Amino acid sequence: MEFKGQVAVVTGGTRGIGKAIAVKLAKSGADLVVAGRNLNTANESAAALREFGAKAFGVKLDVSNSEEVERVFEEVRREFSRIDILINNAGITKDGLLLRMKEEAWDSVLDINLKGVFLCSREAMKDMAKQRYGRIVNITSVAAFMGNPGQANYSASKAGIVGFTKTVAREYAGRGVTVNAVAPGFIQTAMTDVLQENIKEEMSKLIPLGRFGTVEDVANAVIFLASPDSGYITGQVIHVNGGMYM
Ligand code: NDP
Repeated sequence: MEFKGQVAVVTGGTRGIGKAIAVKLAKSGADLVVAGRNLNTANESAAALREFGAKAFGVKLDVSNSEEVERVFEEVRREFSRIDILINNAGITKDGLLLRMKEEAWDSVLDINLKGVFLCSREAMKDMAKQRYGRIVNITSVAAFMGNPGQANYSASKAGIVGFTKTVAREYAGRGVTVNAVAPGFIQTAMTDVLQENIKEEMSKLIPLGRFGTVEDVANAVIFLASPDSGYITGQVIHVNGGMYM
């Protein structure tokens, strides 16, 4: 139980990759806060985690709303008195080619995917810096490194996360806080379920390991970076993409 006594906040922990991360943390002994935009869904996810013996509760949180972020982290402090792990996983896509991309699609993707990481990290860092221990893991994307037609907003937000990760890693290394990122490739979740079958087949051909990843493939890398074992790794990006980007 390598996470026994540790408290983790997982944004977007209600489904997909975030849910898989939350489950693995709970199974390894961590106490959890599951954040999503819908309180009922967040509560249901937290209840499932309690089955593994974890203390867990759900919170309604839009990561792009600074007041909600501050309120939620206050609640976490009241409930648990510490925050050891922050997984910045919440993310959305609003795709479109550049000439058709509406300003709203740009703003909302940047607000949730990038500003959300800033707001949540700033809150969590208050506790981590004080307790001189912390692990922040940000979920970026292969799109930040390769680009992806139709995803100028998304790729920019995910590339922004990489710069943010390296800078905050340098700022707080002296306080015992590591900040790293995981860059998934194509992973089977609701986000990729919307793709047409023929497009999925074409994409699979670009992946040396020949398949889309599973949420567990991503969670395994995240859990390592969230653990005490990764203490000499900071400011890094681990790519989990079946070899499609090397
Ligand atoms: P899903 O769409 O399955 O899940 C997204 C999660 O984010 C949900 O739990 C959702 O919860 C939450 N969320 C969305 N907006 C907000 C918000 N404003 N505030 C709080 N929570 C929010 O996505 P995936 O699991 O596929 O993706 C997870 C992360 O991994 C994302 O950052 C994504 O960009 C990244 N990624 C995914 C890849 C893939 O192939 N699937 C590839 C590369 C990166 P709710 O709706 O309840 O609010």
